[in-house]
Amino acid sequence: MRLLRSTDLALRVLMRLAVVGESSPTTREVADGMGVPYTHLAKVVAELQHRGLLTARRGRGGGLALTEAGRTASVGAVVRAFEGEGDVVDCEGPVPCPLNSACRLRGALRRAQEAFFASLDPLTVADIAAEPTGALLLGISRRPGDGPPPQL
Ligand code: SF4
Repeated sequence: MRLLRSTDLALRVLMRLAVVGESSPTTREVADGMGVPYTHLAKVVAELQHRGLLTARRGRGGGLALTEAGRTASVGAVVRAFEGEGDVVDCEGPVPCPLNSACRLRGALRRAQEAFFASLDPLTVADIAAEPTGALLLGISRRPGDGPPPQL
């Protein structure tokens, strides 16, 4: 199963914010650091903010910060939220599959999809930002003038 680009970006933003401490990077700084278009990342950030997983303050001294709900969020819940409830196969597209009304494969794929999500449910954002990933995240998230890195 391949994740949507927005799902991957959402998890990467949350992981970065989990390690940056008080430094509150801007959306543009995070987008530049990740090498993704600002407009694309801004939509993901807005959705994460809407879900209470981060705060985004504008202006001088503003920036992005992970909320406690974001730090403890289940990776499975984040993936479900961004992937939606759609099937992994489009059985009812412009030309519906003739097996659609009685397909055993469709049910099996739904169960496999749910098993995939469920395997991510026990993991939190803090878990996936822990060592050894945390040190790498810190290295690519620091800005000129930031103080010494916080102890992980
Ligand atoms: S074979 Fe089954 S799972 Fe595949 S497209 Fe047709 S209805 Fe969907």
